[in-house]
Amino acid sequence: MLWLALGPFPAMENQVLVIRIKIPNSGAVDWTVHSGPQLLFRDVLDVIGQVLPEATTTAFEYEDEDGDRITVRSDEEMKAMLSYYYSTVMEQQVNGQLIEPLQIFPRACKPPGERNIHGLKVNTRAGPSQHSSPAVSDALPSNSLKKSSAELKKILANGQMNEQDIRYRDTLGHGNGGTVYKAYHVPSGKILAVKVILLDITLELQKQIMSELEILYKCDSSYIIGFYGAFFVENRISICTEFMDGGSLDVYRKIPEHVLGRIAVAVVKGLTYLWSLKILHRDVKPSNMLVNTTGQVKLCDFGVSTQLVNSIAKTYVGTNAYMAPERISGEQYGIHSDVWSLGISFMEPLQLLQCIVDEDSPVLPVGEFSEPFVHFITQCMRKQPKERPAPEELMGHPFIVQFNDGNAAVVSMWVCRALEERRSQQGPP
Ligand code: ATP
Ligand code: MG
Repeated sequence: MLWLALGPFPAMENQVLVIRIKIPNSGAVDWTVHSGPQLLFRDVLDVIGQVLPEATTTAFEYEDEDGDRITVRSDEEMKAMLSYYYSTVMEQQVNGQLIEPLQIFPRACKPPGERNIHGLKVNTRAGPSQHSSPAVSDALPSNSLKKSSAELKKILANGQMNEQDIRYRDTLGHGNGGTVYKAYHVPSGKILAVKVILLDITLELQKQIMSELEILYKCDSSYIIGFYGAFFVENRISICTEFMDGGSLDVYRKIPEHVLGRIAVAVVKGLTYLWSLKILHRDVKPSNMLVNTTGQVKLCDFGVSTQLVNSIAKTYVGTNAYMAPERISGEQYGIHSDVWSLGISFMEPLQLLQCIVDEDSPVLPVGEFSEPFVHFITQCMRKQPKERPAPEELMGHPFIVQFNDGNAAVVSMWVCRALEERRSQQGPP
């Protein structure tokens, strides 16, 4: 074909691109774009979201020369569509024909409840896009558009935190769904932990996540990580929380029982608080238990936003070692499932020690840990969910009662010593 011989379309660079968004059963809206070749998938979805605010659009289609519909769900597929479109424009120009707009057909996602694992895709493009926002032609109802974008700005920026005020420093760790950074918040002078998750979802879903996260402002417990705000920038959500200078429990090796006991008390209190707000944690594990040098223990990464949990789950499907058996087999998730994960989280040091003491015999290390501790874990990990302790039974368990003395100094000293050891092992900076 002619366009192949000409290479990447130099003549198209400055050309205005008209995208005709076909609205099901009611005509079309023309959108004029001045930076066509740089246009991203996300930009198109944003505009479709403004044209069709009621629908949740996750993809769109265009027609090839045979009239077959081709789906676009990513920047790569966008590029392919634009290449194809520009080739048809060249042919129309060569033949002296009128240039047809690029017709696209928005595709609504499946209704909630139906999982659509393939409908979402992680976009690994780093950093903000370099081009300006797409210009929208007069064909769009401009009043409603202005109103909705102002409203969106308010909702998405949340008025508390924004990217411009944040200076990212070290990377604290990578998880399944994102990366956590230590960051400096310029206006407040605070050090934060900012979790950044790449999510290619519609504006509607972004709005839903932001409103679901609002409950975090109301969470007020010294056993739950402090929440400072969240915002979306393009396809990334940034969740700003309190920074815990001791990090998460997974990086600590052997935790003595008198320290672990106090940690368990804080974790049980944190979970009981969440359950009282009708929030299930859904991801109880050592990496979501944070400690600091003042001896505080706080839970993070709990499933407060169903939509966020679903969006991450659609992108990163999987199970982890801390999940209750009923969850792995797809049965109903409840408080009991959090209790299982609690038990298995604290069983780790037991097992670790067991391996060190005697590799061959898979028995609990008698004498190493107290009977109440072993009993606590065994109860939490009963196969039948209903047989596991209920919240008030957890609080009343002898292991928890024994260490429920508010002695933060024990945890504080242990965290400080462990950090000191780590520093001396790493040597001078
Ligand atoms: P997953 O994504 O499966 O939940 P994860 O919990 O290890 O795994 P992240 O939640 O992304 O992954 O966290 C990565 C690491 O960042 C954690 O292991 C923890 O060490 C660190 N981290 C997270 N939040 C904070 C915080 N508020 N303060 C200090 N460190 C943190
Ligand atoms: Mg985590």
